[in-house]
This record gives sequence, C-alpha cells and structure tokens, in this order.
Amino acid sequence: MDINPKLVTPLGPTSEEDFALERLVLTTQKDSFLDWVRKWAQKNSLCPLPFGTACCAMEYMAAQGPRYDLGRFGSEVVRFNPGQSDLMIIAGTVTEKMAPVLRKIYQQMAGPKWVIAMGACAASGGFYRSYHVVQGVSREIPVDVYIPGCPPTPEAVIEGIMKIGERIEKGVCASEGHIAAAELT
Ligand code: SF4
Repeated sequence: MDINPKLVTPLGPTSEEDFALERLVLTTQKDSFLDWVRKWAQKNSLCPLPFGTACCAMEYMAAQGPRYDLGRFGSEVVRFNPGQSDLMIIAGTVTEKMAPVLRKIYQQMAGPKWVIAMGACAASGGFYRSYHVVQGVSREIPVDVYIPGCPPTPEAVIEGIMKIGERIEKGVCASEGHIAAAELT
C-alpha cells in the first residue's frame, strides 16, 4: 500500500478517514474553546449604561461605589454612549414621555446587548398606577433580568449582574429573542 506522507501522524500512518476525523475533532474543540473565551471575556467586561430616572439610581450608584465595588465583576466602566454599552440598567420610574427616549437609546446600543429592569417602578410601574407611567419597561424593550425591590439593595444589583453573566454563558439574550419573534410576524 502506498503511504501518503501527508497522512503520517506522530502515531504512524493513518487512513484518510481517520486523518480527517482527527482534524475535525481538533477544529471543533478549538471553536468551542474560543467560544468559551469570548463569553468569559464578555461577562467579565460589561459596559453598563445606567438609565437612571429616580431613586433606584442612587442605589445603583451605591453598588458602583467602593463599599460594594462592582469593579470586582468587571462592570465598573459606566458608559453614557449607547454605541459603547452592552448592558442597559433601567433604574427608576419611566414615564410615557421618557419611553421614546428609552427605545431610541436601546436601539442605538451595539449588540449583543442585555437589559436589567431595576426596582418595582421599572418592572411594573411600581406604586404609580397612573396613565403617565409605563407599567413595566418590557412593554417598550426586551428585558433580561428583573431586580425586585423598592429600592433593591446593592447586593441585589450585584446578583442581577451575576444573572446577566449566566445568560451570557448560556448564550441567551432577550434582544435576540425579540428580533426572532419580530421576524416571525
Ligand atoms: S422602585 Fe422605589 S426606589 Fe425605585 S424608583 Fe421606584 S419608587 Fe424609587
């Protein structure tokens, strides 16, 4: 049998099928490793855009301060430029007048992007059962994580950001689900 020198591995000559299979396995492992690295880097370098409209924003500031130090989780670089943000944190009451602004900023954010609704007001309108307050920001944009409370504690904010990390690891993103749903209709 003629041996193709290109098919000689350190363990000796091999068939074309085994040679191709070995390369396929190596390629697959490399791709999954790179995917893991990308997700690991993404979840540890989030750039939040705080959409702070009321008292919850104060609690978010506390979470960013030296006592709770969100920098430990790589999400301390707050950006007020949507093009450089991948995590919107809605901290406060959103009025109907603010809703178009919220939608526009969200649309300007680079994808993949995630959204946290922080506090009762962002999640459901809170105690503002009124025509001028949005009764839950999910009516305007897709939300990934809800942080309960009025206001939520800084520990709860940290937990919410950990939950975003879990979603990044799993490759889950509400904005992509939203796009997929929009394409279906
Ligand atoms: S949930 Fe409570 S603390 Fe947060 S913005 Fe609404 S009223 Fe203020």
